[in-house]
Amino acid sequence: MKSSERAAVIDGIKSADIDVLIIGAGINGVSTFRELALNGVSVLLVDKQDFCAGTSAAPSRLIHGGIKYLENGEFRLVAESTHERNRLLHNAPHLVKPLPCTVPFYSWFGGLFNSAFKFFRLPVKGFKKRGRLVVKIGMSIYDWMGRKRRAMPTHKIRGAKESLQMFPGIDPSVISTATYYDALITQPERLCLELITDTLADTESLNHHCAALNYASVVSSSGDEVTVADEPGGQFFTIQPKLVVNAGGPWIDPVNALLGIDSHYIGGSKGSHLILDHPQMLASLNGHMMYFETGDNRLCLAYPIGDRVLVGTTDIRVDDPDTVKCDEAEIDYLITAMAELLPGIPFTREHIVYSYTGVRPLPFDDGVGVGSVSRDHSIEVDEASGERTFDVASLIGGKWTTFRAFGEVAADLVMGKLKQARSVDTYKLAIGGGRDFPAADTADAVNQQLAEAYKLPASVVSGIMQRYGRNEGVLSALTEEGGLTPLAALPSFLHGEIRYICEREFVVHLDDLIFRRTTLALEGRATESLVAEIASIAAPLMNWSESCTADEIARCNHRLRTNARGVV
Ligand SMILES: Cc1cc2nc3c(=O)[nH]c(=O)nc-3n(C[C@H](O)[C@H](O)[C@H](O)COP(=O)(O)OP(=O)(O)OC[C@H]3O[C@@H](n4cnc5c(N)ncnc54)[C@H](O)[C@@H]3O)c2cc1C
Repeated sequence: MKSSERAAVIDGIKSADIDVLIIGAGINGVSTFRELALNGVSVLLVDKQDFCAGTSAAPSRLIHGGIKYLENGEFRLVAESTHERNRLLHNAPHLVKPLPCTVPFYSWFGGLFNSAFKFFRLPVKGFKKRGRLVVKIGMSIYDWMGRKRRAMPTHKIRGAKESLQMFPGIDPSVISTATYYDALITQPERLCLELITDTLADTESLNHHCAALNYASVVSSSGDEVTVADEPGGQFFTIQPKLVVNAGGPWIDPVNALLGIDSHYIGGSKGSHLILDHPQMLASLNGHMMYFETGDNRLCLAYPIGDRVLVGTTDIRVDDPDTVKCDEAEIDYLITAMAELLPGIPFTREHIVYSYTGVRPLPFDDGVGVGSVSRDHSIEVDEASGERTFDVASLIGGKWTTFRAFGEVAADLVMGKLKQARSVDTYKLAIGGGRDFPAADTADAVNQQLAEAYKLPASVVSGIMQRYGRNEGVLSALTEEGGLTPLAALPSFLHGEIRYICEREFVVHLDDLIFRRTTLALEGRATESLVAEIASIAAPLMNWSESCTADEIARCNHRLRTNARGVV
């Protein structure tokens, strides 16, 4: 977004009556924004970083019912999650895809007592890996819970011989494997962005004011005013909301402190993931996610993501979400875990092309280990008090998967307080490039039609559909002069795509483009020459001077080298 366009948005905010301020544009803040805006509430969404750059950019990328939460007796959460997962497979089919998930086991009855003890919240002594019987019970309940509008097959169990053939390199002492279905989200950051762009487009002609700003942090409040710092513009502005939604995820308590509230709602837990360039492991996974138990009784996962492998994750209590990164001990832990699962497949640090870390915004709980804290969501309301004239609703916990349901509950609470009625239901609302996205059996015909309509090669249209879903804005950008020119450093990407992203997708910094609008960093393809080439296309569109462009390149490469340990 050019600075002049951003200045116009801020001028609009200053002159409007904003009823609700949402602090935090992770998936839960964005979902609440969408619910409120579509229902006629005037609302401003701000984030101190880019949209979807906090925890919401760092999940295991599963849209899942949460089979493991059955052991903790969290039936409400599992029912809601399976339901939302099935809806997302329909509403965002361009980004949310079915994923076969396979659990290997090494005994028949192992873990039976441990699981029962966990279920009844009794202390677990010693540990045994979960055996076939426990997993079979869990999967049968899971299938039953996902039965409404079933979107994928039920579970299947296979014997040792078939398992060893299907997953070469797996621990040969396996007695059986079981496969159930969940889903993966290929680009969570893009889904978040699409929810924002859809909402702004759908409310453009309505009479209430809605705006979303990245790189805009809430810095203080006093009386009825909240002050926001606009980082790119280097200025501050104030608004007077009737109500504030604190969707700060792991930052909820520091955000509340800025609003004059002393809260202790969050007990953050960090989790790291690695992305590997490892063709042998990729082949061994055979298109499945392996969901397996580690030597310390935790569940880890590994699955193919494009031509890479994603491995995760850790679960470590942390206090400061601003300083987390994937450390050496976590890498050792994940290497050891994978060596137990696939002893026949060597995996070293050389295979790692990217890593990322996030902090789960779990409810504060002093008494249990982080692994046992509830993954359900809840809302704490701090009523107006003292000088503060507005209530603050803090959104605690919540899975990526359940964002729509959580946003719906949060919006209903807010609308109840504002005495506004709901008129729009998002349950069946398609998202972004998922609108009119063709089913597999009609994809070729639809691609051909679009290719003819835009006078583009069908192969180009099919690549765009895979990356962005049905996004005719991108197709149209490719028809402009030079739009079809491939990037020299990565010919599968086209100039027109980069231009479209710069002009239409709220880019402020170069790393927005490399890390979140595309999967270039995640896939370990962001080489130094690619970063420089993309910067040279972005610079004139973003009005970056020569020195500003050099700073953007340096900032991006620094992030790739340090936090993300990507290849540059
Ligand atoms: C390791 C890991 C794996 C996970 N895996 C999965 C999974 O596979 N599936 C699943 O469903 N869920 C998963 N989750 C859970 C899910 O990712 C999170 O629960 C969810 O993303 C939380 O979103 P949020 O919007 O509440 O928080 P965030 O995404 O963290 O958003 C909070 C935002 O507040 C902003 N903010 C902070 N302070 C300020 C300020 N002063 N002014 C303005 N903005 C501010 C931050 O910049 C941030 O963007 C996982 C989480 C982790 C950590």
